[in-house]
Amino acid sequence: MSGSGGFNKYRCKFFLTHNCNNWVWVNGGECAMCMANGYSDPPKKAETAKDKPADPKPADKK
Ligand SMILES: [Zn+2]
Repeated sequence: MSGSGGFNKYRCKFFLTHNCNNWVWVNGGECAMCMANGYSDPPKKAETAKDKPADPKPADKK
């Protein structure tokens, strides 16, 4: 039997970061729409502390 879109098996890598509902052929890949939109790789949490300030708010409460 032939289903519709049987070749796309993985969620687009921007499924979470850009709410993309498209499917891709490769796990962790980006769909054509995201490529056209120029989406870049989602920021890694491990690197956020390198450039950005830890907390935008000057609050010092614990
Ligand atoms: Zn996408």
